[in-house]
Amino acid sequence: MKTHARVVVIGGGAVGVGTLYHLARKGWSDVVLVERAELTAGSTWHAAGLLPLFNMSYTVGQIHKYSVDLYKRLPAETGQDVSFHVTGNLRLATCPERMDEYQKYCGTANTIGVPFQVIGPQEVKKLWPLIDLGNGADTPNIIGALYHPDDGHIAPADLTMALRKGARAGGAEIYEQTEVMAVKRTASGEWQISTDKGDIVAEHVVCATGNYARQTGRMFGINVPSIPVEHQYIVYDESPELKTYRQGGGRELAVLRESDKSYYLREERMGWILGPYEAGAPARFADGVPDWFGKSLFEGDLERLLPHVEAAQRRVPSLANCGIKDIVNGPIAYTPDGSPLIGPAWGVRNLWLNEGHSFGITAAGGSGWQLAEWIVEGEPGIDMMAVDPRRYGPYTSKRYVVQKNEETYRNVFVIHFPDEERPDARPAKTSPIYDKLKRMGAVFGQRYGWERANWFAPPGVVAKDQWSFRRSNYFEHVGREALLIRRHVGMIDLGPFTKHEVTGPGAEAWLDSLVANKVPTKIGRIALCHALTRRGGIRSEFTITKIADEHYYVVSAGAAERYDSDYLQQMLADHPAAPGAATLRNITTSRGCFVLAGPRSREVLAKLTDVPLDNAGFPWLTGQVAEVGLATDVYLLRVNFVGALGWELHFPIEYAHHLFDAIFDAGAEFKIGMAGMRAMESLRLEKSYRMWGTDLTPDYTPYEAGLDRFVRLNKGAFVGKDALERQLKQGVPHRFVTFEVHGVSAADPLGNEPLFDAKGNLVGRATAGYYGHALQKSLGLGYVKTDFAGVGAELQIEILGERKRATVLVDSPFDPENKELRA
Ligand SMILES: Cc1cc2nc3c(=O)[nH]c(=O)nc-3n(C[C@H](O)[C@H](O)[C@H](O)COP(=O)(O)OP(=O)(O)OC[C@H]3O[C@@H](n4cnc5c(N)ncnc54)[C@H](O)[C@@H]3O)c2cc1C
Repeated sequence: MKTHARVVVIGGGAVGVGTLYHLARKGWSDVVLVERAELTAGSTWHAAGLLPLFNMSYTVGQIHKYSVDLYKRLPAETGQDVSFHVTGNLRLATCPERMDEYQKYCGTANTIGVPFQVIGPQEVKKLWPLIDLGNGADTPNIIGALYHPDDGHIAPADLTMALRKGARAGGAEIYEQTEVMAVKRTASGEWQISTDKGDIVAEHVVCATGNYARQTGRMFGINVPSIPVEHQYIVYDESPELKTYRQGGGRELAVLRESDKSYYLREERMGWILGPYEAGAPARFADGVPDWFGKSLFEGDLERLLPHVEAAQRRVPSLANCGIKDIVNGPIAYTPDGSPLIGPAWGVRNLWLNEGHSFGITAAGGSGWQLAEWIVEGEPGIDMMAVDPRRYGPYTSKRYVVQKNEETYRNVFVIHFPDEERPDARPAKTSPIYDKLKRMGAVFGQRYGWERANWFAPPGVVAKDQWSFRRSNYFEHVGREALLIRRHVGMIDLGPFTKHEVTGPGAEAWLDSLVANKVPTKIGRIALCHALTRRGGIRSEFTITKIADEHYYVVSAGAAERYDSDYLQQMLADHPAAPGAATLRNITTSRGCFVLAGPRSREVLAKLTDVPLDNAGFPWLTGQVAEVGLATDVYLLRVNFVGALGWELHFPIEYAHHLFDAIFDAGAEFKIGMAGMRAMESLRLEKSYRMWGTDLTPDYTPYEAGLDRFVRLNKGAFVGKDALERQLKQGVPHRFVTFEVHGVSAADPLGNEPLFDAKGNLVGRATAGYYGHALQKSLGLGYVKTDFAGVGAELQIEILGERKRATVLVDSPFDPENKELRA
C-alpha cells in the first residue's frame, strides 16, 4: 500500500469509484481509494439501478444528465459492460397539478438539454401495452405522462467495475479490506489517514462513505447531515403476460413511475421490480452503522408497502398473477432536502464530501465529474450551490436530520410545488418576534432552519398556503403587502441575514482583495460588493458598511451563512497581511434586522430617533449608528431590497421586541403593517434586484449579470479579476434582463423557464419570476444571449407548456431613476 497520495477517497461504492475515475481522468494519477470491505459492499450492491433523468433541480439535473451520457460511453472506453438498458422512463400523471409539475420540469430539461416528451394516454398505452389507463374510480385515469427516451436502468456493480477499470487505467490504486479508523493533520497540513493496514498521508481526502457519512464526518470533527432511511423494493417472479409480450417481439418496457401512487416498476428477468416510497419508513443508523451490519439488509416490511402494491396491481393488472420472490430492504442515504452533499467540507481544508446520495447510482458519474473538477481546478464547472455541503449549518441536529429525512423520503413522489413548505422539524430557529408575527397571521416558510413569514393572512382568512404552480390563495394578500410598502409603510423581519464584522488595521485591504467593487473608505458609506470565483462567476454578494475606522459590517444572504463564513475564514487565513491585521466575527445571531420601507418610513422613524433623516443628514446608501427608541447601537442603513424609501435597522437582538412594538406604535397613524418574503419577491423583481443564489450564481459574471457598476478593474487585484478582463476582451456572452410576460392570467414565471427568440430558438433562461403588484405586470428575470438583451427585444417564454410573448423592459422597471429611494 502506498504511504503517500495526492488524494485518498474513502469508500468504494459507485460514488467513491466514480470520483476516483474522474480524478484519474483529469490527470491526477497519484490517487487511491480505500474500502473497508470490497467494492460495492455498501448500498451500491442492492440498488435497483434506475437512472432517472427527472429532477427539478437545475444542478442535479445536469449531474444526472452527465452520468447517463457517461454510462453509455463507458463500455467502449473500458471494455466492461455495464448492462445499461435504455428502456426509457415513463412518469404518469393522473391529476392536472401533476401535469403542471411535469411542465415545470420541462423548462429545466429544455435549458439543460435533456430530451423528453409530454404524451397523452393513448401514447402511454402504445409504449406500455400492459397498462390499465384507468376507470376514473379506484384506478385513476391517466391524463398524460412525461417520457424520457434516454434513461433506463443499469447494473450498479458492473457500473462500479467499469469505473474501477477506467480509474486504474489512469493510474489510480484501490485497496479493499482496508478501513479508515482515524485521521489527523500532519504538521505540514496534510491528512494522515490511519487504516487497519497502515497509514497514508494525503493532500486531499474525499469521503464517499454512504451510510457511514456521519461517523466518517466525526473523525474529521464535522457533523455531516446525512442519515439513511430504509428503502425497499419487491422482486417478483416471472410474469406470464410480460413473457408473452416480450416473446411476441415487444421491446423492454420503459421504467414506469406512477408518481401519484408513489412507486416505480421495472422489468427484471421477465418479472418485475416494484419500488414504493412509502410513509413510515424509519431513519436508521443515526448513531452509526453497527459493525455487524456489513452487507446485510433489514427485514422486509410488506405491510408498509401494501397500499402501493395494490395500486400497482390496479394499474398493471397482470402483476397480480406474479409471486413475490424477494423483498430487498436496505439503507439509503438521505439529507434533509433530498439532494446530495458534493463539495468542500467546512472549517477544515482539503476535505471533500461526496455523501448523502439517495440516487447515487444515477449521480455517481456527475458528482465525480464536478468534484474532481473542484479538487483539481479549485472550482466546479457548474453552479453547485444546490448540492454544496455548506448549504446546511450547525442547526442540523440528529433529530432534525432524522425527522427531515423521513419526511423527504416519503415525499419523493409528492408533487414538488414551487411554494411548498414542508412541516416536519419546525419551528426550529425563530426570530424573537415569531409569536407576535404568528398572532398577526404569518404563514411561515423555512430557509436554513429559520422560520420566515412568507405572507400574512388578514383576520378571517385561513393562515395556510394552497401550494400551486399558479397564482394561489395568498396572491391578493401578497399584493396588499407589496402595495402597503409602495404606498404607505411596511416592515419585513429579515433577522436571518448572515452578518459578519471585520475589524482591525488590515480590514479594508483584506476585504478589498476579496470583492470586485471598492470597499467603502468613508465612515458611513455602504457598497454592494461581489466575491467572485476564479472564473469570474459570482460566488457571494455582500453589503459592506464602514461602521467606524477599522470596522466593517458585512451582510449577506441568510441561507449563505456557512457558505460565506467558511469562505471568509479561509480567505482570511490565506491573506498575506500580518496575522491579526484583520479579525472576522460571525455575528449573525446577535443582531436582528427589520426593514422599514415605504414613502412614510421617514416619518415613522423620525418619531423614534434624533438622527436627522433628511437627504442631507442621511443620504441614500449610507449608514449610521444610532439610538432608536430605547435601543442603542442600532446600525441604521439606508438601503433595502424592495426599492422604496426606507432603512434597514440592524439591532442588538435583545431589542427585537421593544423595537417591533415601538415601530408599530409610531407607524399606526401611517397604516403600518407587516410584509412577508413573497411581497419582497414581487417588489424586488419590479426593481430588477438580483437575488444571490438564483439570479447571481457562479455560472454568470458580474458583466453578464449587468452589475458592471459594481466592478472596479482599476482598483488592484481581487479574485476573478483576470477572468473578467478576459471576458471583456472576448465579449460578454449573456446579459441579464428583466422582462414582462404578456397574456398571463394565472401562471407567472418562477425561474428555470426557457427563453426563446421570436423565431423559437433557445436564447436563454429565466432565473426568477413573479407578479409585480405595483406595475401590474407578470415579470421575469433571466439571462439571454447578448443580442437579445436590448430594451424592447421580443422573446418567448414557455410557462407550464404554454408559449407566451415576453418583452425586455428597462432595468428596474419600477422607478428606474431611483427617485423613491432618494426621496
Ligand atoms: C433498496 C435500494 C434501492 C436503490 N435503488 C437505486 C436506484 O435504482 N438508482 C439509484 O440511483 N440509486 C438507488 N439506490 C441508492 C443507491 O444505492 C445509493 O445512493 C448509492 O449506492 C450510494 O453509493 P455510495 O458510493 O455513496 O455509497 P455506498 O455504496 O454505501 O458505499 C460506501 C462505501 O464506503 C465504505 N466505507 C464506509 N466507511 C468506511 C471507512 N471508514 N473506511 C473504508 N471504507 C468505508 C463502505 O463499506 C461502502 O462500501 C437504492 C438504494 C436502496 C437501499
